[in-house]
Amino acid sequence: MSKKIFLSENEIPEKWYNIVADMVNKPLPPLNPATKQVLTPEDLEPVFATELIKQEMSQDRWIEIPEEVRELYKIWRPTPLVRATGLEKALGTPARIYFKNEGVSPVGSHKLNSALPQAYYNKKQGIKRLTTETGAGQWGAALSFASSVFGLGLDVYMVKVSYEQKPYRRMMMQTWGANVIPSPSNTTESGRSILAKDPNNSGSLGIAISEAVEMAVQDPDARYTLGSVLNHVALHQTVIGLESEKQMDMAGEYPDIVIGCFGGGSNFSGISFPFLRHKLTEGKEIRVIAAEPASCPKLSRGRFEYDFGDTVGLTPLLPMYTLGHDFQPADIHAGGLRYHGAGTIVSQLRKDGFIEVQAIPQLETFEAGKLFANTEGIIPAPESTHAIAVAIREALKAKEEGTPKTILFNLSGHGLIDMSAYDQYMNGNMKNYQLTDEEIAKTRDSLEKLV
Ligand SMILES: *Cc1c(COP(=O)(O)O)cnc(C)c1O
Repeated sequence: MSKKIFLSENEIPEKWYNIVADMVNKPLPPLNPATKQVLTPEDLEPVFATELIKQEMSQDRWIEIPEEVRELYKIWRPTPLVRATGLEKALGTPARIYFKNEGVSPVGSHKLNSALPQAYYNKKQGIKRLTTETGAGQWGAALSFASSVFGLGLDVYMVKVSYEQKPYRRMMMQTWGANVIPSPSNTTESGRSILAKDPNNSGSLGIAISEAVEMAVQDPDARYTLGSVLNHVALHQTVIGLESEKQMDMAGEYPDIVIGCFGGGSNFSGISFPFLRHKLTEGKEIRVIAAEPASCPKLSRGRFEYDFGDTVGLTPLLPMYTLGHDFQPADIHAGGLRYHGAGTIVSQLRKDGFIEVQAIPQLETFEAGKLFANTEGIIPAPESTHAIAVAIREALKAKEEGTPKTILFNLSGHGLIDMSAYDQYMNGNMKNYQLTDEEIAKTRDSLEKLV
């Protein structure tokens, strides 16, 4: 039995898979926030590259990966599929557990799978400069490298408190040549208006988005980019599942259960959509589980409604499971999972019963992460520990029932730049955050009047 299953470079997928083509109920369209009419491609032109807008609205089943992007994917792709033999042994489970290791990318997470094509399409269109926001810095780091290889300028608005307290990803971004600005800043109208009221404001993702979008739309040579939630980002991430499909096949396996952690849905979509396609088109039996934080439970306790993608209310209205754009998640360490909503494709699939959800308390995720580190050697990103926790739950259930299930989960990133989180866990200073129904209702139930 092989511990790791490799593909050769010429087996990097040639096309991304667009699940919209196979969905029975297509996702509802996004709406223009001002007119409440269906959003047109022209509405998005000042914000995103034209080719990415096309992909956002495409119903084609397969979309060609440009040769230049496949060449760059070779830096770390194909990523290994690994049998978690150490973890299986520690759990004493009859289940076979596999994980796809996206932590081997140069930036340490799956985000580079979308950063590279996004930079590529902007460059091809003649755009000179990109803008984006970043919280903990995973997306900002990926886009910094991608902008660097395509010779694009990049302004990253980084939430000020992270800029000050989590310096290492800022240093990575700067190493790759990005201009990193603590947000709120005095470089934009949105930033200045916040600072005028509150000079010590420590920032939020919502404010950083406002600043990055404002900078992009006022410069005809600049465009904005986003690292999750949107359809084209989920599309790019399907390289994860397409490679896994081949690798599982080489191992003589097909997963009964596919698991991904869930922030805005990009790595979850990436690992699961290529497998879900067999369920949609051939009726194949497979369970697909999203692992979300109990403190930010958009899929398990949110509502399916039109809502803004950002906190401030500048983005198009998206039909999605959401806790409300005003929802303030607790300050958990899995920064990449602290988002109020879910992508529109995942939301529709969830509504139609194709996706299960498990909400995991923070302490259980770190317990899972520590067990994984001690059995497989890899210290996982705090986000990825959510997927591991669900894999462990399912493996223990298989043990109880005596059923040798095949489980596949996505290891979305390594945690080597998140060690202070593990430190807190080991010092006993970490806690769970319980949300009451009243707390959730406060922001979630104010959405009815939006549309
Ligand atoms: C950003 C991030 C996530 C969450 O984003 P998704 O779009 O939901 O995948 C998960 N894991 C890691 C390592 C991340 O950097």
